[in-house]
Amino acid sequence: MPPTQTVPCQYRTGKTLGSGTYAIVKEAVHIKTGTHYACKVINKKLMEGREHMVRNEIAVLKKVSKSHPNIVTLHDYFETAHNLYLCFDLCTGGELFDRICAKGNYYEKDAAHLVGCIFGAVAYLHKCGIVHRDLKPENLLFRDPSEEADIMICDFGLSRVIESDKIGLLTEICGTPGYMAPEIFLKSGHHKPVDVWAMGVITYFLLCGYTPFDRESQAKETEAIIAGDYKFEPVEYWENVSDTAKEFIKCCLTINPVKRPSAQDMLAHKWLSSEHYVTDSTG
Ligand code: ADP
Ligand code: MG
Repeated sequence: MPPTQTVPCQYRTGKTLGSGTYAIVKEAVHIKTGTHYACKVINKKLMEGREHMVRNEIAVLKKVSKSHPNIVTLHDYFETAHNLYLCFDLCTGGELFDRICAKGNYYEKDAAHLVGCIFGAVAYLHKCGIVHRDLKPENLLFRDPSEEADIMICDFGLSRVIESDKIGLLTEICGTPGYMAPEIFLKSGHHKPVDVWAMGVITYFLLCGYTPFDRESQAKETEAIIAGDYKFEPVEYWENVSDTAKEFIKCCLTINPVKRPSAQDMLAHKWLSSEHYVTDSTG
Protein backbone atom coordinates (compact mmCIF):
# COMPACT_ATOMS: atom_id res chain seq x y z
CA MET A 1 0.00 0.00 0.00
CA PRO A 2 1.88 3.15 -1.14
CA PRO A 3 1.22 6.24 0.99
CA THR A 4 -1.30 8.54 -0.62
CA GLN A 5 0.39 11.89 -1.12
CA THR A 6 -0.91 14.92 0.75
CA VAL A 7 -4.61 14.27 0.37
CA PRO A 8 -6.24 14.96 3.70
CA CYS A 9 -8.98 16.77 1.75
CA GLN A 10 -10.18 13.32 0.61
CA TYR A 11 -11.49 12.96 4.15
CA ARG A 12 -13.72 15.08 6.32
CA THR A 13 -12.84 14.75 9.99
CA GLY A 14 -15.47 14.73 12.70
CA LYS A 15 -15.59 14.17 16.44
CA THR A 16 -12.63 13.07 18.52
CA LEU A 17 -12.77 9.37 19.40
CA GLY A 18 -9.88 9.24 21.80
CA SER A 19 -6.39 10.36 22.49
CA GLY A 20 -3.24 8.70 23.65
CA THR A 21 0.37 9.61 24.25
CA TYR A 22 1.24 11.03 20.84
CA ALA A 23 -1.96 11.13 18.88
CA ILE A 24 -5.53 12.31 18.63
CA VAL A 25 -7.93 9.91 16.93
CA LYS A 26 -10.84 11.46 15.05
CA GLU A 27 -13.76 10.06 13.17
CA ALA A 28 -13.26 10.67 9.43
CA VAL A 29 -15.46 10.20 6.39
CA HIS A 30 -13.94 9.37 3.02
CA ILE A 31 -15.75 12.00 0.95
CA LYS A 32 -15.96 10.01 -2.31
CA THR A 33 -17.24 6.75 -0.83
CA GLY A 34 -18.92 7.96 2.36
CA THR A 35 -17.07 5.29 4.34
CA HIS A 36 -16.34 6.12 7.97
CA TYR A 37 -12.86 5.56 9.39
CA ALA A 38 -10.92 6.34 12.51
CA CYS A 39 -8.07 8.70 11.67
CA LYS A 40 -5.08 8.82 13.99
CA VAL A 41 -3.54 12.29 13.69
CA ILE A 42 0.05 12.41 14.84
CA ASN A 43 1.67 15.79 15.31
CA LYS A 44 5.12 15.69 13.67
CA LYS A 45 6.57 18.26 16.05
CA LEU A 46 5.53 16.22 19.10
CA MET A 47 7.13 13.15 17.53
CA GLU A 48 10.41 14.87 16.67
CA GLY A 49 13.24 12.43 17.29
CA ARG A 50 10.76 9.56 17.57
CA GLU A 51 9.68 9.40 13.91
CA HIS A 52 10.92 5.81 13.84
CA MET A 53 8.02 4.90 16.15
CA VAL A 54 5.43 5.88 13.54
CA ARG A 55 7.39 4.25 10.72
CA ASN A 56 7.53 1.14 12.83
CA GLU A 57 3.81 1.31 13.64
CA ILE A 58 3.00 1.53 9.91
CA ALA A 59 5.37 -1.36 9.07
CA VAL A 60 3.75 -3.62 11.68
CA LEU A 61 0.22 -2.63 10.64
CA LYS A 62 1.01 -3.36 6.99
CA LYS A 63 2.16 -6.79 8.04
CA VAL A 64 -0.96 -7.67 10.04
CA SER A 65 -3.78 -5.62 8.50
CA LYS A 66 -6.73 -7.66 7.20
CA SER A 67 -5.13 -10.85 8.46
CA HIS A 68 -6.93 -11.42 11.77
CA PRO A 69 -10.49 -10.59 12.87
CA ASN A 70 -9.33 -9.19 16.21
CA ILE A 71 -6.61 -6.88 14.90
CA VAL A 72 -7.48 -3.41 13.62
CA THR A 73 -6.86 -2.77 9.89
CA LEU A 74 -4.90 0.20 8.54
CA HIS A 75 -6.54 1.36 5.29
CA ASP A 76 -4.56 4.41 4.30
CA TYR A 77 -1.87 6.79 5.50
CA PHE A 78 -0.60 10.14 4.34
CA GLU A 79 1.05 13.26 5.65
CA THR A 80 0.89 17.05 5.50
CA ALA A 81 3.51 19.56 6.58
CA HIS A 82 2.44 19.26 10.23
CA ASN A 83 0.76 15.91 10.72
CA LEU A 84 0.83 12.22 9.88
CA TYR A 85 -2.55 10.56 9.30
CA LEU A 86 -3.32 6.86 9.75
CA CYS A 87 -6.81 5.69 8.70
CA PHE A 88 -8.18 2.62 10.45
CA ASP A 89 -11.37 0.59 10.60
CA LEU A 90 -13.71 2.60 12.76
CA CYS A 91 -14.44 0.79 16.02
CA THR A 92 -17.64 2.31 17.33
CA GLY A 93 -17.98 0.23 20.49
CA GLY A 94 -15.45 2.14 22.59
CA GLU A 95 -12.55 0.95 24.74
CA LEU A 96 -12.62 -2.18 26.89
CA PHE A 97 -11.46 0.14 29.68
CA ASP A 98 -14.75 2.07 29.59
CA ARG A 99 -16.84 -1.11 29.49
CA ILE A 100 -15.07 -2.48 32.56
CA CYS A 101 -15.60 0.83 34.36
CA ALA A 102 -19.29 0.92 33.38
CA LYS A 103 -19.92 -2.68 34.50
CA GLY A 104 -17.68 -2.69 37.58
CA ASN A 105 -16.43 -6.09 36.49
CA TYR A 106 -17.22 -8.84 33.97
CA TYR A 107 -18.93 -12.16 34.59
CA GLU A 108 -16.39 -14.93 34.32
CA LYS A 109 -17.93 -16.50 31.25
CA ASP A 110 -17.88 -13.19 29.34
CA ALA A 111 -14.37 -12.39 30.59
CA ALA A 112 -13.10 -15.80 29.43
CA HIS A 113 -14.64 -15.26 26.01
CA LEU A 114 -12.95 -11.87 25.59
CA VAL A 115 -9.62 -13.06 26.97
CA GLY A 116 -9.74 -16.04 24.57
CA CYS A 117 -10.33 -13.73 21.58
CA ILE A 118 -7.54 -11.35 22.57
CA PHE A 119 -5.11 -14.19 23.31
CA GLY A 120 -5.93 -15.66 19.88
CA ALA A 121 -4.83 -12.39 18.27
CA VAL A 122 -1.75 -12.14 20.53
CA ALA A 123 -0.69 -15.70 19.62
CA TYR A 124 -1.12 -14.75 15.94
CA LEU A 125 1.04 -11.62 16.37
CA HIS A 126 3.71 -13.66 18.14
CA LYS A 127 3.65 -16.23 15.33
CA CYS A 128 4.30 -13.33 12.92
CA GLY A 129 7.31 -12.27 15.04
CA ILE A 130 5.52 -9.24 16.49
CA VAL A 131 5.48 -8.24 20.15
CA HIS A 132 2.84 -5.58 20.95
CA ARG A 133 4.26 -4.25 24.26
CA ASP A 134 1.32 -1.99 25.12
CA LEU A 135 -1.62 -4.33 25.70
CA LYS A 136 -4.08 -2.66 28.08
CA PRO A 137 -7.84 -2.03 28.12
CA GLU A 138 -7.39 1.43 26.51
CA ASN A 139 -5.85 -0.25 23.45
CA LEU A 140 -8.57 -2.90 23.09
CA LEU A 141 -11.60 -1.61 21.21
CA PHE A 142 -15.03 -3.01 20.37
CA ARG A 143 -15.97 -3.05 16.71
CA ASP A 144 -19.55 -1.94 17.45
CA PRO A 145 -21.63 -0.96 20.49
CA SER A 146 -23.35 -4.37 20.91
CA GLU A 147 -22.59 -6.61 23.90
CA GLU A 148 -21.33 -9.37 21.60
CA ALA A 149 -19.11 -7.09 19.46
CA ASP A 150 -15.69 -8.35 18.33
CA ILE A 151 -12.79 -7.01 20.35
CA MET A 152 -9.87 -5.54 18.39
CA ILE A 153 -6.24 -4.94 19.31
CA CYS A 154 -5.14 -1.44 18.29
CA ASP A 155 -2.18 0.89 18.90
CA PHE A 156 0.93 -0.75 17.50
CA GLY A 157 3.02 2.33 18.42
CA LEU A 158 5.33 0.36 20.72
CA SER A 159 5.28 -2.93 18.86
CA ARG A 160 8.33 -4.53 17.29
CA VAL A 161 8.92 -7.10 14.58
CA ILE A 162 11.62 -9.50 15.70
CA GLU A 163 12.30 -12.71 13.91
CA SER A 164 14.40 -14.29 16.64
CA ASP A 165 12.81 -15.67 19.80
CA LYS A 166 15.82 -14.80 21.95
CA ILE A 167 14.54 -13.14 25.12
CA GLY A 168 17.28 -10.54 25.56
CA LEU A 169 16.63 -8.42 22.48
CA LEU A 170 14.64 -5.44 23.71
CA THR A 171 15.83 -3.49 26.70
CA GLU A 172 14.32 0.00 26.64
CA ILE A 173 11.77 0.72 29.34
CA CYS A 174 8.45 1.32 27.66
CA GLY A 175 4.76 0.65 28.10
CA THR A 176 2.21 1.57 30.74
CA PRO A 177 3.60 0.87 34.24
CA GLY A 178 0.69 -1.14 35.69
CA TYR A 179 0.79 -3.58 32.76
CA MET A 180 4.57 -3.86 32.41
CA ALA A 181 6.33 -7.16 33.14
CA PRO A 182 9.12 -7.46 35.75
CA GLU A 183 11.81 -8.05 33.10
CA ILE A 184 11.08 -4.63 31.54
CA PHE A 185 11.92 -2.85 34.82
CA LEU A 186 14.90 -5.13 35.41
CA LYS A 187 16.21 -4.29 31.91
CA SER A 188 17.21 -7.92 31.63
CA GLY A 189 15.87 -8.06 28.09
CA HIS A 190 12.31 -8.74 27.07
CA HIS A 191 10.28 -10.19 24.26
CA LYS A 192 6.91 -11.87 23.61
CA PRO A 193 6.37 -12.95 27.25
CA VAL A 194 5.67 -9.28 28.18
CA ASP A 195 2.37 -9.53 26.27
CA VAL A 196 1.36 -12.64 28.25
CA TRP A 197 2.08 -10.78 31.50
CA ALA A 198 -0.06 -7.83 30.36
CA MET A 199 -2.87 -10.27 29.54
CA GLY A 200 -2.66 -11.53 33.14
CA VAL A 201 -3.12 -7.97 34.41
CA ILE A 202 -6.01 -7.39 31.97
CA THR A 203 -7.74 -10.65 33.03
CA TYR A 204 -7.40 -9.68 36.71
CA PHE A 205 -8.86 -6.24 35.93
CA LEU A 206 -11.77 -7.76 33.98
CA LEU A 207 -12.74 -10.00 36.87
CA CYS A 208 -12.62 -7.51 39.76
CA GLY A 209 -12.55 -3.99 38.26
CA TYR A 210 -9.13 -2.91 39.59
CA THR A 211 -5.53 -3.77 38.67
CA PRO A 212 -3.28 -6.08 40.72
CA PHE A 213 -0.22 -3.86 41.28
CA ASP A 214 -1.87 -0.51 42.03
CA ARG A 215 0.15 1.10 44.86
CA GLU A 216 0.40 4.57 46.39
CA SER A 217 3.53 5.44 44.37
CA GLN A 218 5.20 4.43 41.11
CA ALA A 219 8.24 3.14 43.06
CA LYS A 220 6.04 0.86 45.21
CA GLU A 221 4.17 -0.34 42.12
CA THR A 222 7.44 -1.25 40.40
CA GLU A 223 8.61 -3.06 43.54
CA ALA A 224 5.35 -5.05 43.67
CA ILE A 225 5.62 -6.01 39.99
CA ILE A 226 9.22 -7.18 40.31
CA ALA A 227 8.28 -9.28 43.36
CA GLY A 228 5.07 -10.51 41.70
CA ASP A 229 3.32 -9.24 44.82
CA TYR A 230 -0.44 -9.28 44.25
CA LYS A 231 -3.39 -10.94 45.97
CA PHE A 232 -6.91 -11.97 45.06
CA GLU A 233 -8.25 -9.50 47.61
CA PRO A 234 -10.43 -7.94 48.99
CA VAL A 235 -12.08 -11.31 49.31
CA GLU A 236 -15.60 -10.03 48.55
CA TYR A 237 -14.45 -9.25 45.01
CA TRP A 238 -12.95 -12.70 44.46
CA GLU A 239 -15.10 -15.19 46.40
CA ASN A 240 -17.29 -15.92 43.36
CA VAL A 241 -14.36 -16.27 40.96
CA SER A 242 -13.32 -19.84 40.16
CA ASP A 243 -9.94 -21.28 41.14
CA THR A 244 -9.41 -22.04 37.46
CA ALA A 245 -9.61 -18.32 36.62
CA LYS A 246 -7.16 -17.49 39.43
CA GLU A 247 -4.81 -20.20 38.19
CA PHE A 248 -5.02 -18.72 34.68
CA ILE A 249 -3.99 -15.29 36.01
CA LYS A 250 -1.17 -16.87 38.08
CA CYS A 251 0.22 -18.56 34.96
CA CYS A 252 0.27 -15.25 33.03
CA LEU A 253 1.88 -13.49 36.00
CA THR A 254 4.82 -15.91 36.25
CA ILE A 255 7.75 -13.70 37.29
CA ASN A 256 10.40 -15.49 35.26
CA PRO A 257 9.74 -14.80 31.54
CA VAL A 258 11.49 -18.02 30.56
CA LYS A 259 9.05 -20.04 32.67
CA ARG A 260 5.98 -17.95 31.73
CA PRO A 261 3.70 -19.91 29.37
CA SER A 262 3.46 -18.65 25.78
CA ALA A 263 0.28 -17.13 24.32
CA GLN A 264 -0.26 -20.40 22.47
CA ASP A 265 0.05 -22.34 25.77
CA MET A 266 -2.45 -20.01 27.44
CA LEU A 267 -4.95 -20.57 24.63
CA ALA A 268 -5.04 -24.24 25.65
CA HIS A 269 -5.76 -23.40 29.32
CA LYS A 270 -8.98 -24.97 30.54
CA TRP A 271 -10.39 -21.62 31.76
CA LEU A 272 -10.88 -20.62 28.14
CA SER A 273 -12.96 -23.65 27.20
CA SER A 274 -16.62 -22.80 27.56
CA GLU A 275 -17.67 -26.25 28.81
CA HIS A 276 -15.66 -25.56 31.89
CA TYR A 277 -17.81 -22.54 32.60
CA VAL A 278 -21.16 -24.26 32.70
CA THR A 279 -20.05 -26.37 35.63
CA ASP A 280 -17.55 -24.16 37.38
CA SER A 281 -18.46 -20.49 37.01
CA THR A 282 -19.36 -20.00 40.63
CA GLY A 283 -16.04 -21.12 41.97
P1 ADP B 1 -1.75 6.34 21.24
O1 ADP B 1 -0.61 5.68 20.58
O2 ADP B 1 -1.58 7.81 21.32
O3 ADP B 1 -2.13 5.69 22.57
P2 ADP B 1 -4.03 4.93 20.06
O4 ADP B 1 -3.76 4.28 18.75
O5 ADP B 1 -4.07 4.05 21.26
O6 ADP B 1 -2.99 6.15 20.25
O7 ADP B 1 -5.39 5.73 19.99
C1 ADP B 1 -5.83 6.52 21.08
C2 ADP B 1 -7.28 6.25 21.39
O8 ADP B 1 -8.09 6.57 20.24
C3 ADP B 1 -7.62 4.78 21.70
O9 ADP B 1 -7.37 4.47 23.05
C4 ADP B 1 -9.10 4.74 21.32
O10 ADP B 1 -9.92 5.28 22.34
C5 ADP B 1 -9.18 5.67 20.12
N1 ADP B 1 -9.03 4.88 18.86
C6 ADP B 1 -7.88 4.43 18.31
N2 ADP B 1 -8.09 3.71 17.20
C7 ADP B 1 -9.43 3.70 17.01
C8 ADP B 1 -10.31 3.09 16.04
N3 ADP B 1 -9.82 2.38 15.03
N4 ADP B 1 -11.64 3.26 16.19
C9 ADP B 1 -12.14 3.99 17.23
N5 ADP B 1 -11.37 4.57 18.18
C10 ADP B 1 -10.03 4.45 18.08
MG1 MG C 1 -2.98 3.83 22.99
